[in-house]
Amino acid sequence: MSFGKFGKVSYVSETKLQKFEQDLEAGKIMGTRCKTCGKLYFPPRADCTCLKGNIEWVELTGNCRLLTYSTLFFAPASFRYEVPYMLAVAQFDEGPTVLAPLSKDITEDEVKSGMSLKLIPMELAGGRVIYELRKP
Ligand SMILES: [Zn+2]
Repeated sequence: MSFGKFGKVSYVSETKLQKFEQDLEAGKIMGTRCKTCGKLYFPPRADCTCLKGNIEWVELTGNCRLLTYSTLFFAPASFRYEVPYMLAVAQFDEGPTVLAPLSKDITEDEVKSGMSLKLIPMELAGGRVIYELRKP
């Protein structure tokens, strides 16, 4: 089973986590938690580093804070029409970090380390699903 719709470009041909894509379509940001050691993952992982394989799905609020970002002026061919865009690392209130584009609604002069953001699922033309960081 693969991600048929996740991302502007699909890099994952096989996954045990297709539910992630279905939940994004439903507007949910889902991670996984290891029921043995408690480690929380985003993006979701099917296995934990403790190797117990005892994973459950957990819905995240999407609320996070900006850790850092970069403005990209050059990008891989599939993203060349998007430049320039800002790519950020943010930390969810629940702990994990996420790498995601900042919404084009956010201007570079309002970007501040520590600012509140929310990870929002969105559907693109053609039915593909992605997520981006927006102002809450
Ligand atoms: Zn574990």
